[in-house]
Amino acid sequence: ASALAPQIQAYLQRSSWIRKMFETGAELKARHGADAVCDFSLGNPDLSPPDAVYTALEELARRDQRFGYMPNAGYPEARTALAGYLSDEQGTPVSANDVILTCGAAGALNSFFRAVLEPGDEVLCPAPYFVEYGFYAENHGGVLHPVSTNPDDFSLDMKAMADAINPKSRVLLINSPNNPSGRIYTKEELQALSDLLAARSREFGRTIYLLSDEPYRFLTFDDHQTPSLLPLYPHTVVVSSFSKSLALAGERIGFALVNPAMPGKDELLAGMVLTNRILGFVNAPAVGQRLMQHALGAKVDVQEYARRRSAMAEILEGAGISFFKPQGAFYFFPKAPGGDDVAFVQALQEELILAVPGRGFGTPGYFRLAFCVDETVIRRAGAGFKKAAAKFR
Ligand code: PLP
Repeated sequence: ASALAPQIQAYLQRSSWIRKMFETGAELKARHGADAVCDFSLGNPDLSPPDAVYTALEELARRDQRFGYMPNAGYPEARTALAGYLSDEQGTPVSANDVILTCGAAGALNSFFRAVLEPGDEVLCPAPYFVEYGFYAENHGGVLHPVSTNPDDFSLDMKAMADAINPKSRVLLINSPNNPSGRIYTKEELQALSDLLAARSREFGRTIYLLSDEPYRFLTFDDHQTPSLLPLYPHTVVVSSFSKSLALAGERIGFALVNPAMPGKDELLAGMVLTNRILGFVNAPAVGQRLMQHALGAKVDVQEYARRRSAMAEILEGAGISFFKPQGAFYFFPKAPGGDDVAFVQALQEELILAVPGRGFGTPGYFRLAFCVDETVIRRAGAGFKKAAAKFR
């Protein structure tokens, strides 16, 4: 008999190939030295937090600071500061009561799902997608229902979306800039999506929420901008974090923002404050809230990411690998030469290059490269990409 519930046993089995990949990566580093391996598998920001984070940390260490429980939604001053910042960022006035501080975007997603999902409810989301979404939905009795996007630029396939929405659909979850595709949905796409959700909510007599996961909003390239969903659809909830923008991923600080225009928003907020508490998060970390409050508006060096993106594009072009150039976030999601993503990722491993197969994001046939690594590592991988790609020609 297993120590585990069958569902968790099944999760472990299903994800064994991904664990094996990470183990192989670790072995390669042990055998050849970490410096010899070009690791593009992890979306963990390597850049230092901006100075404002360190200044806030020093100040916290000096003052007679308390770290006790606070209201479950977070320190009132931190929520007020965040609301001011978000009013600007989202182009819509937001008040402190519309935001809840959470343990990262991940904590916000779970608190939201716990508050709104009934058993068997569906969470629709365009594929490729952040793989944790499926687990988070199932944590609360929901089911993830991936919907394919257009294969060359990952734009929304409105026909597929319209066909997918059904009476069990409770949430449409989008992530823009997208991990792993780097796609930013245009205002026109989002307007069409909002119109579709409004029509279907009316038809089924039940609200379909639009949940916007935006931890990469701060990181866009060229002239790309991420449109706000608040003006487009009243039943919008934005979740995000400072994991990437302030390089604070380990400190678990994020938030949920409920659209001030949502009918019944106070009930949803009260529900989410409760679920944030009873899921065992209790409240967002005290130190993280203070750091966020004082560093709002600062961000990691975006130019550094822009240079890495150019370097990666050059390397991939040089290897004849086709890709959509990311408009935001720090990932490429190129087509796997030969079409088999696992086979190609294995060929890359032989060249001491680590990547993640697209099937880990619900989209086989592609592979993901995270460019949160030094530009010299990207350039060093050039010859390896060429050799691996040549095997599939
Ligand atoms: N959503 C997306 C799309 C992500 O890529 C990540 C982290 O990589 C998260 C959510 C979770 O981030 P956090 O909980 O650290 O805010």
